[in-house]
Amino acid sequence: MRVGAGMDAHRFEPGRRLVLGGVEIPAATGLGGHSDADVVLHALMDALLGAGGLGDIGEMFPDDDPAYRDASSLELLERVMESVRERGFAVDNADLVVVCEEPRISPYRAEMTGRIASALGIDPGRVGLKGTTTEGMGFPGRGEGIMAFAVVLLAEK
Ligand code: MG
Repeated sequence: MRVGAGMDAHRFEPGRRLVLGGVEIPAATGLGGHSDADVVLHALMDALLGAGGLGDIGEMFPDDDPAYRDASSLELLERVMESVRERGFAVDNADLVVVCEEPRISPYRAEMTGRIASALGIDPGRVGLKGTTTEGMGFPGRGEGIMAFAVVLLAEK
């Protein structure tokens, strides 16, 4: 068994789509970033790469590479999973935390966990995802951006 942790944060940027956990969410403001800025999947990819001894997301998908401009993080996650499988690992489970005041995560939880589970090649029951707030404290509390944490467990095949 190999455990991995990931964290990411992106700031809100007007005129951008909001994509979280592979799901586009109707919102007035999205997150800024080179790719689609899916902060949840970015944290998850870093956890997977860390557990697999495969480096990190910045090494794999450099943010100065035009190939990844507005890239779908779900597609990047598929690429990460190819590397994880090549290294001889399968995902046992993943647990994700999204920290923001807005939007509410629960209405989208089933769709997000479904997409993430499908990308990871596991049952949706092995993907945990919850939203929480910081009760108005810090940058998520002030509505400046969204932060996400991920923990994954890999098993040697
Ligand atoms: Mg990121």
